[in-house]
Amino acid sequence: MEQIYLDHAATTRTVPEVVEAMLPYFTEYYGNASTVYGFGEKSRQAVNHARDTIANALGAKSEEIYFTAGGSESDNWALKATAEAYKEKGNHIITTKIEHHAILHTCEWLEKQGFEVTYLDVDENGTVSPEVVEAAIRPTTILISVMFANNEIGTIEPIAEIGAIAKKHGVLFHTDAVQAFGQVLIQVDEMNIDMLSASGHKLNGPKGIGFLYIRKGVKIRSFIHGGAQERKRRAGTENVPGIVGLGKAVELALATMEQRIEQESSLRDHMISRIENEIPFAKLNGERSKRLPNNVNVCFRFIEGESMLIMLDMKGICASSGSACTSGSLDPSHVLLAIGLPHEIAHGSLRMTLGAENTLEEVDHTVDVLKEIVAHLRNMSPLYEDYIKNHKD
Ligand SMILES: *Cc1c(COP(=O)(O)O)cnc(C)c1O
Repeated sequence: MEQIYLDHAATTRTVPEVVEAMLPYFTEYYGNASTVYGFGEKSRQAVNHARDTIANALGAKSEEIYFTAGGSESDNWALKATAEAYKEKGNHIITTKIEHHAILHTCEWLEKQGFEVTYLDVDENGTVSPEVVEAAIRPTTILISVMFANNEIGTIEPIAEIGAIAKKHGVLFHTDAVQAFGQVLIQVDEMNIDMLSASGHKLNGPKGIGFLYIRKGVKIRSFIHGGAQERKRRAGTENVPGIVGLGKAVELALATMEQRIEQESSLRDHMISRIENEIPFAKLNGERSKRLPNNVNVCFRFIEGESMLIMLDMKGICASSGSACTSGSLDPSHVLLAIGLPHEIAHGSLRMTLGAENTLEEVDHTVDVLKEIVAHLRNMSPLYEDYIKNHKD
């Protein structure tokens, strides 16, 4: 078998249909979408079409979709600009301990600017309790930001319930839906979502393009100052090919969603049950049923996630561990610690995230390889040796 790609939560392949849709907007219709002359019209139409597609997918209005350079920018914008716009009302923000760093590090920055941030605990499955959200609301609370689904353990949060609570208390509600958008159905009105972040490269679109949904009426300051693009809220010449690619990716994601949910969740469940049945001391992380259809995250006791990754890589399998790999540190993931795993167990975690192109053969082959790797690493593990010694009889 050639490479098996099981890291779709990190990024996805830009599918050929998307690339094809983008190509003419590099070389043929390269006009500036904001110009007056007719040549820019083609670009303008393409941008509007993508905006309509995305708005439809969310049950939103086209003028509520603002294109950005990706999920991180959307998260930064949602938090920093609402904090600024609503600071007369209060300085308190509520978020959770399991957010992506694009949210957490922005919140830490806001704390330095004088805002107060409550980082909510989650339960052992990574679920945020709506009651806990409600109890954290103060008269000075201006914003609640809870991710739609967690990028590490796949838990889907009770977003509609949290949205209803935010609405009841007159507090703005933002959700980082970078992992969920395109994978599960999201309706901003039904779920009382005021702002939503999403990113192209997590749903088979291009990298470096995303959007922020901002409900009409929400006061939000512009994030990039300059020209009048995106209704003066996000300056910069439109990334027309990127926007076209994102629109196409959303169109495809919506058209295939039901079938993908069925296919991926059945592969996911097959993989989880094989691991649980065939590999001892393996434990699923995250909520079992309210879970992204493509996410498998498992802790293997007595071994290091990093060692598993390297050995999987030698077998041509791309996966991810629960360490804070981006920072180059070997600290266990903040998400795994937040669900209560001790450090040494969190270190042994492995995330495998599926895509539409993965097959049953690939999943079975991966589990077979994983069984060998886990056995091999445990044979060399003093922790495992100790455990077996102490539990003999
Ligand atoms: C990937 C990701 C982001 C960042 O998106 P980029 O487009 O890579 O900037 C933010 N939040 C979550 C939950 C993610 O998975």
